[in-house]
Amino acid sequence: MVEVQNGEALQAHTLVVGGGISGITAGIELAEVGRDIILIERNPYLGGRVAQMNLYFPKLCPPSCGMEINFRRIKNNDRFKFFTLATVDKISGEPGNFEVQIKIQPRYVNSKCTACGDCEKDCAIEVENEFDYGISKRKAIYLPHDMSFPHLYVVDPKYVNDEAMKACVDACEYDAIELDMKPINITVKVKSIIWATGWQPYDAAKIENLGFGRVANVITNVMMERLASSDGPTQGRIVRPSDGEGIKSVAFVQCAGSRDENHLPYCSGICCLASMKQATYVREIYPDAEIHIFYIDVRSPGRLEDFYVKVDEDEKIHFHRGKVAEITEVPGGRVKLVAEDTMAGDINTIEVDMAVLATGMVPNTAVDKPPVEVEMDENGFLIAREAQTVIGAGTVVRPVDVASCVQDATGAAMKALQTIIDG
Ligand SMILES: Cc1cc2nc3c(=O)[nH]c(=O)nc-3n(C[C@H](O)[C@H](O)[C@H](O)COP(=O)(O)OP(=O)(O)OC[C@H]3O[C@@H](n4cnc5c(N)ncnc54)[C@H](O)[C@@H]3O)c2cc1C
Repeated sequence: MVEVQNGEALQAHTLVVGGGISGITAGIELAEVGRDIILIERNPYLGGRVAQMNLYFPKLCPPSCGMEINFRRIKNNDRFKFFTLATVDKISGEPGNFEVQIKIQPRYVNSKCTACGDCEKDCAIEVENEFDYGISKRKAIYLPHDMSFPHLYVVDPKYVNDEAMKACVDACEYDAIELDMKPINITVKVKSIIWATGWQPYDAAKIENLGFGRVANVITNVMMERLASSDGPTQGRIVRPSDGEGIKSVAFVQCAGSRDENHLPYCSGICCLASMKQATYVREIYPDAEIHIFYIDVRSPGRLEDFYVKVDEDEKIHFHRGKVAEITEVPGGRVKLVAEDTMAGDINTIEVDMAVLATGMVPNTAVDKPPVEVEMDENGFLIAREAQTVIGAGTVVRPVDVASCVQDATGAAMKALQTIIDG
């Protein structure tokens, strides 16, 4: 991260918007072939949604294993500059000659922070923790997560003027908290812009028949990632939200809102594999748990089929072909699912301790468009075309896994290089 003054003008070859795996990859690829890049990220840390995963398929390694290498590459490369808490205000110009106005929100914590946590201990304000999708609480001054990069605390802007924050300032022996920090506006001149603002989970509350928000033990797949994570709200114990009890049975509901004209008409491509991966989380903790996966078609393209075959070998993982029509609560907090078995043509009812909705991925560009003329499809994905103003990378172009994002981002870096051949 670099320090800049309000009103400063910077120059680089490429601006990358979004600091998830796609943006980081595109930025590093360009910096390592000698181009200056500026990456901006709206969160107080880099890493995007991958940082919120427990393990990722196909190798089932923790996010830290891939991310740490990338963070090291960033630290070792002077050509890679990045700003957190930063967004684009305005873009003018065209490929080869863009001028972009960027707003950087204050962190209210300076680089003297050692992440010792003393300020947090003395902070009386507790709010919902968005990193854990609301399953846990965090303080108003907080480290977003254990492997946050940069490893600095941040103050929730809603509470910066709260009297209670004074105790945090007093607790910091490094004078790292500055509650009077102001937003900074900078201008960057670049030849190309890579847009990699990623995705957000489809809002499960909109799928009324599946009970999310109404039935306590119905959670979503992204919440399951946090429950299973050792740095998550339950330190990796997968338990029922209603009473913190362990589970003997669980159902995964595929295509929750996906491939459905009323919600997301497309397939997110990764949800089947994510549920199979999460079935292995459950199996690791509960050797005897009965695991049910309700699906329309199992999608495990290419070599990921091997993962499906392996999961299917588990005798207590049951694949049911059929769409879940309804989820309700039964006394004792159990969850009842009604599903059509499309193989046998029957309607089946099953009771389990917890249900996990495999909701799909919505491109952030569907709700937060780049402030420039850009071609998008009817679902808000950027269309990859030669003549585009900004170059899309990763899940803003299509819903994909990490490996595909890395390939996409490398392609986007190549396109950025081609914008101006001699650039
Ligand atoms: C339940 C679930 C489990 C999954 N498990 C796996 C798995 O095991 N293996 C696997 O390969 N894939 C998995 N995936 C897919 C994986 O999460 C994505 O492939 C990956 O997150 C995409 O990275 P990205 O950089 O494109 O987007 P993101 O991770 O969303 O990163 C985008 C970044 O851009 C930032 N941003 C957004 N808007 C702005 C803005 N306006 N200005 C600046 N910054 C902005 C965001 O804050 C974010 O940091 C899973 C997905 C789900 C739903």
